[in-house]
Amino acid sequence: MTLPPSSAPDTQKLHWVDAHCHLQDPRLDPHRPQVLERAAEAGVGLVHVAATSESDWPAVAALADAHPEFVLCSFGLHPWFIHDRHPHWLDHLRDTLAGRPAGIGEIGLDGGMDDGLEADRDAVFLAQLDLSFELALPASIHCRGAWGRMLDILLARPPHPAGLLLHAYAGPPDALPALAAKNVHISFGGTLTRPNAKKALKNAKKALKNRFLVESDAPDLPPTLAEGQKAYFRDENGKILSEPAYIPYIGQLLADLRGTTPAQIAAETTATARRLFAPLLT
Ligand SMILES: [Zn+2]
Repeated sequence: MTLPPSSAPDTQKLHWVDAHCHLQDPRLDPHRPQVLERAAEAGVGLVHVAATSESDWPAVAALADAHPEFVLCSFGLHPWFIHDRHPHWLDHLRDTLAGRPAGIGEIGLDGGMDDGLEADRDAVFLAQLDLSFELALPASIHCRGAWGRMLDILLARPPHPAGLLLHAYAGPPDALPALAAKNVHISFGGTLTRPNAKKALKNAKKALKNRFLVESDAPDLPPTLAEGQKAYFRDENGKILSEPAYIPYIGQLLADLRGTTPAQIAAETTATARRLFAPLLT
């Protein structure tokens, strides 16, 4: 895969859904109009924007209000940002979800924090996961360094009534059939392009049909670009930031790995996203 997205005409006319991104992130403030424009040019017709803490819920809601045909949204507490939650954060979340079509996210577990908040993080995740079962809303899940615990939790429960998304999936390939049986989906993004992405590549090959999605995780987890491929934009430290316009690049890579065409990947992932995010689309 050496073609830059801008010169990959076979992927340009396809329709994609970015299953997981954070377009509310302040790092995108100066670039947001161009990011949205480039997404549309790349064929990304829908983006799912996940909140990370109570402080960014208004910005996520404002984005969805400003672009109702383009932005789907979810609200929740990301495991990195539980320390500044309001004492009544769960009521706040219920109220926010009652006010508009939305999912729950980004929620999850992170085993690499070392901040003494492991029990809190577990409780906050479980409360939000329980809420997603109760309200039958899809939830988007982050997991890093906590795969044993995450799989114990998800596999001990009944199948989710709306569906779950383990974004940027880096869990064991062998768990994929059991997760699918619990109505758990996975998504692939920039990590698939890393030089040592052996496990991600294996997961991309083994992912069950109609159970996987594509994501940018913008502005984080940008793809590793091929030689000569131009980055859309960088932050002030020169670091490439991710954005939805890279999705066709991920789709091409998935097509190559699975021995199919980008058109097939686009059609499958878009249909899966529309099914999973149906409660957010109304
Ligand atoms: Zn994320």
